[in-house]
Amino acid sequence: MDISIVVPLYNEAESLPELTVWIERVMAANKFSYEIIFVNDGSTDDSWQVIESLAAKNPAVKGVAFRRNYGKSPALNTGFARAQGDVVITMDADLQDSPDEIPELYRMITADGYDLVSGYKQKRYDPLSKTIPTKLFNATARKVTGIKNLHDFNCGLKAYRNKVVKHIEVYGDMHRYIPYLAKLAGFTRIGEKVVHHQARKYGKTKFGLDRFVNGYLDLATLWFTGKFGGKPMHFFGLLGSLMFVLGFIAVAVVGFVKLYNMHHGNHYTLVTDSPYFYLSLTLMLLGSQLFLAGFVGELVARNSPRRNDYEIDSEINL
Ligand code: UDP
Ligand code: MG
Repeated sequence: MDISIVVPLYNEAESLPELTVWIERVMAANKFSYEIIFVNDGSTDDSWQVIESLAAKNPAVKGVAFRRNYGKSPALNTGFARAQGDVVITMDADLQDSPDEIPELYRMITADGYDLVSGYKQKRYDPLSKTIPTKLFNATARKVTGIKNLHDFNCGLKAYRNKVVKHIEVYGDMHRYIPYLAKLAGFTRIGEKVVHHQARKYGKTKFGLDRFVNGYLDLATLWFTGKFGGKPMHFFGLLGSLMFVLGFIAVAVVGFVKLYNMHHGNHYTLVTDSPYFYLSLTLMLLGSQLFLAGFVGELVARNSPRRNDYEIDSEINL
């Protein structure tokens, strides 16, 4: 099968028939073999009934439904697990992404050799309250992830080589960082294609402004786990040791100065009268806490059943 189209949806009943007809038209015009996997993320409208009737008319239309609403990432992950096509395309259900982009996305994966191609909504039809934070968000994401050529991490329209979606795990709200997840899994040929974007035709957006706060927190998590997840001691241990040693030296200096002055009959103050004593104490306490956090982290990492899960690309004679 050439293409799997994975569509996560939550209360998008009005859009689905139009979206399906449009996809069917593009697929027929390009003679692709395909499947459309609708992942119903616990919709409370009649999205599922609509999917059932669409599937009855066209066997390429498939559906999977959660019993309750989990979020876009779990929906994508579930669709990915079921996708059989050589190229997997994700798109939003709300008709903001255009199926007309699919043939070129397919070509970029199969002919240009990209592992992942992300859409770039250069001209967006969204309110300013969304487009401005999005620019900032993407600039940060580019810096942190090192994927410098992407302008739009969170575009719903993306294309993947099949093995990419089978080797990444999208959970929580991590759909914003799928290119980063792919990069962390060793898929580095990541491209971008400018895509048309339309204003939402039916229904309303499912994400509020909290997306930006959560987006930053998730980025911090991914960056940290990507860098130190397997070796927490390298972060906490280093920081903790440095702080402890600094505190120790400082407290030794305070004590030494007092003893020196005492010995030479100079005026001297009690160790506990010096502010540096308390600063050093704090440093030593925090330092040992950090060290301990690193140690506990190591124990957790050591016991993870996935500690030896590596991305194997190829093998010979094995
Ligand atoms: N979506 C989903 N589960 C959710 C929220 C959203 O499956 O909990 C789907 C939604 O139906 C749509 C896509 O994710 O197909 C993108 O959502 P939306 O259009 O609301 O996001 P926006 O375009 O405002 O970024
Ligand atoms: Mg949308």
